[in-house]
Amino acid sequence: MSTARAALKEVVQQQISRLSGLGFCRLLFPRELEDRFEDQTAQARCTWLARQTLIAILFYDLFLFARYTLSAQGFVRALVVRLFIVTPIALAVNFTLRRRPGKIFREASIAAVACLAGLSNLYLISGRGPVMAAYGQLAVLSIALWLTIVARIRFPYAVAAAVTMLLGDIVFLRYDQSLLHNQKIFGFSIAFGLVLLTVLANYSFGKEDRLNFLLQLRSDLLVADLNRLNAHLLRRSESDALTGLANRHSFDAQFAELWRKAVIGGTVLSVIVVDVDRFKQLNDRYGHLYGDQVLKRIGSLLQQALRAKDDYAARFGGEEFVILLPATHQSAAFMVAERLRKMVELAGFPALDPSQRPYDASIKATVSCGVATAYPTAEGVPEHLLEAADRAMYQAKAQGRNAVCCAPAGRGGGLALSTT
Ligand code: GH3
Ligand code: MG
Ligand code: MG
Repeated sequence: MSTARAALKEVVQQQISRLSGLGFCRLLFPRELEDRFEDQTAQARCTWLARQTLIAILFYDLFLFARYTLSAQGFVRALVVRLFIVTPIALAVNFTLRRRPGKIFREASIAAVACLAGLSNLYLISGRGPVMAAYGQLAVLSIALWLTIVARIRFPYAVAAAVTMLLGDIVFLRYDQSLLHNQKIFGFSIAFGLVLLTVLANYSFGKEDRLNFLLQLRSDLLVADLNRLNAHLLRRSESDALTGLANRHSFDAQFAELWRKAVIGGTVLSVIVVDVDRFKQLNDRYGHLYGDQVLKRIGSLLQQALRAKDDYAARFGGEEFVILLPATHQSAAFMVAERLRKMVELAGFPALDPSQRPYDASIKATVSCGVATAYPTAEGVPEHLLEAADRAMYQAKAQGRNAVCCAPAGRGGGLALSTT
């Protein structure tokens, strides 16, 4: 796991513990995490706010009907303020939300437009008596409720908007001539208490949103770790630990697959069995660890000897390897085997430590290869082609090793072997 991912996981865990506590804590993550939070939530937040402001504008303007039934006095002023001042500003904010503005602009503009709508209510009802004052304050509270709970504006902006509306309420009550002193105190107490409650609710929602984000991020990180681990295990289960080539298990699957494709395509399939010569002797002379190095070297030469992208090499077991060459005739497969044989002869013997292992010129790392080619059929058994290549490999051993032999044409194990 990269150190950046490990660090991110640690920060996420720390923040989960911090936000899970019952007390008040700051609703802000460390810089990088905060940026990620903003990045992942911004689009959905803009869409939500755009939708909610439209609904709110509609209600704000529909309120004119209720206002008219209450009293025709001052209605024109209400009409002008609502329809020609507040509504266009709110629509402009709504328009910018669709263009995904930055976080500060987004939250501040929503808070500002809500304050404007709230304060416009206070302005419109000032001096119109206790009943209108009560309704006006109710309207301000509704807007505070919308801002903090429906729009779920970010907490610092919720506090700023609440303070602005309460200050506006104080100014309204201070200059209103129609209310008695005790009515003003009563009105402000209710407004203060309810606004405080909405701000507290906003804090809880904000905390919950952030905690949900962290839990989701933690589970995403865990799933990504598991997927990586699975891929790693799969690779390991399919490859040979010493040489890095495919192992016997994945060879079987690949052989069946290439056989099936060759049957469908009516193409030829060649197999090369490669066996290291007198490997036991090499092991006995220089030790198993050195033997392992030789196998590693041969595994890498084997990969280099293959050219076509569909060619496939695997460690079959011990000091034996196998190569599958789809759509390759025997002459071309022979050339591949011969190329490999020469490469091993030249470079298959890693440098020896002269102090520990005296060099024995009679021991060389060479390979013997057997090649078999056939047109696979649906009834044919793939193992028979492999056996034919194995027999050819033993023939190369019998000829003195460090050689390549091809399976003769004819029916080998029920298969029509090809030599062209
Ligand atoms: P031939 O030329 O007839 O193939 O002789 P050979 O010695 O290569 O064949 P034999 O089958 O007698 O011996 C194979 C040896 O390969 C025996 C075994 O100890 C060794 N061997 C098998 N797997 C490994 C391995 O992973 N590492 C090492 N170092 N040796 C291995
Ligand atoms: Mg062997
Ligand atoms: Mg051998």
